[in-house]
Amino acid sequence: MGRMAEKKQFVVIGLGRFGGSVCKELVKQGHEVLAIDTDEQKVNDYARFATHAVIANSTDEAALNSLGIRNFENVVVAIGDNIQASILTTLVLKEMGVKNVLVKAKNDYHHKVLEKIGADHIVHPENDMGRRVAQHLSDDKIIDF
Ligand code: ATP
Repeated sequence: MGRMAEKKQFVVIGLGRFGGSVCKELVKQGHEVLAIDTDEQKVNDYARFATHAVIANSTDEAALNSLGIRNFENVVVAIGDNIQASILTTLVLKEMGVKNVLVKAKNDYHHKVLEKIGADHIVHPENDMGRRVAQHLSDDKIIDF
């Protein structure tokens, strides 16, 4: 019997490969997702997947306020290349009181700063996935890749 997850509301900031796939999977699992990106094209691409998709710069506190971000408990920061924007966004979200902020980190320095400013979860998709693939290979469970 499939486990039905409780329906939750999420914000996903940054619609690159990582944020985009987080967004799609959350919607697939029955959750509501507000997707945010500075890139109009990305926002248009995700308009049909996300519950809402808006163009906004997440480092702009006023913009996040007007979107009502403080009312969300779960926010995913999936800004990769612009480490400064990722850090500032995380800082603003934690200052607003968002309970659960998950951030994609690019390197150890980025990780360290994110930890310091209160990111609740920090992920390194390439490293994490590499480890999982190696575990699967080692366990001979190649089938459920
Ligand atoms: P991936 O490897 O997951 O494709 P990436 O690590 O290359 O992504 P980026 O392309 O740097 O990550 O960022 C992901 C998305 O975040 C991009 O679509 C970019 O437009 C968006 N983004 C960057 N800065 C901001 C910002 N300040 N506010 C909102 N979105 C942003």
